[in-house]
Amino acid sequence: MPRSIIFLSGIIFVLTAAVFAQQRDPSFQVGGGTLDVNLDSDLSQQTHNQLMTWVHNAANSVVAYYGRFPLDHTYLQLRSFNGRGVHNGHTFGVHNGGLIRISVGTETPISELKDDWMLTHEMVHLTFPSVPEDHHWIEEGTAVYVEPFARLRAGNANKEQVWGEMARDMHQGLPEEDDEGLDHTHTWGRTYWGGALFCMLADIEIHQRTHNQKGLEDALRAIMNAGGVITEDWELSRAFEVGDKAVGVPVLEELYNKMKDRPVSVDLDKLWQDLGVSHQGGFATFDDRAPLAVVREAINAGKPGRPIKVSVSLDKLMSTAAR
Ligand SMILES: [Zn+2]
Repeated sequence: MPRSIIFLSGIIFVLTAAVFAQQRDPSFQVGGGTLDVNLDSDLSQQTHNQLMTWVHNAANSVVAYYGRFPLDHTYLQLRSFNGRGVHNGHTFGVHNGGLIRISVGTETPISELKDDWMLTHEMVHLTFPSVPEDHHWIEEGTAVYVEPFARLRAGNANKEQVWGEMARDMHQGLPEEDDEGLDHTHTWGRTYWGGALFCMLADIEIHQRTHNQKGLEDALRAIMNAGGVITEDWELSRAFEVGDKAVGVPVLEELYNKMKDRPVSVDLDKLWQDLGVSHQGGFATFDDRAPLAVVREAINAGKPGRPIKVSVSLDKLMSTAAR
């Protein structure tokens, strides 16, 4: 065989191998970590490309919030099903990294993948240590609360949507009858939205007590950077200690002591008003004259904000329902 043909078939082999490898197991670097993606082999190349855009967007969102990707290695298994939507996200710590399993319908339109929150939510789980079962609400709460702001900061969501949906859904985290606090009430609402409510209150209070210079992300980044990621088992007190130290005010510990074993309710209508958030149908409009408008904007941007002129006592918005 002439040398040129050997050379040419060599190139074709390399190209075919590259395309084949890309189809089978795309792998990419993001924020200092490697993501190995395993896609169902019956998906078309076009679907692969769309799914990979979705994966990149979610990973970039997590990096936008945390400053880097939380783990060196993460394995993402994407399974397909006939139909549309994104379902069944699960995230685990495995011996050599993180593992996320998630299912995507073969008829899911690109627009729906663009608006999907679930994959970002799963990736946020990688950033926090595994804590004892009673505190499962903090694992879900951080994922529920951080996900929209992570997507906002990466340009994958807009603030009208983020605050509109949060203001629409947050009431699901309020205590109902017979509630015994976050550590002892393992309902869906208290686990997901009760945890998110805890995170939102902590975020606002950190901003208020640091003159709008720091936020919840500073505490959460510190926990992640101290090695508190999903593969590690930590006591919750250790996570809060690390987080509080990073922001210089013991907001997490204090709020936890208030909410862990008592049904603490929050006047959410007043809180949205103080933040300058009006909402209708999952879409918000904003009042920049509200006392906490500068906090709201600092949370959106993830950067120190303008000084707070009138602070709001969150204690006055909180009440313990009689048991
Ligand atoms: Zn979750």
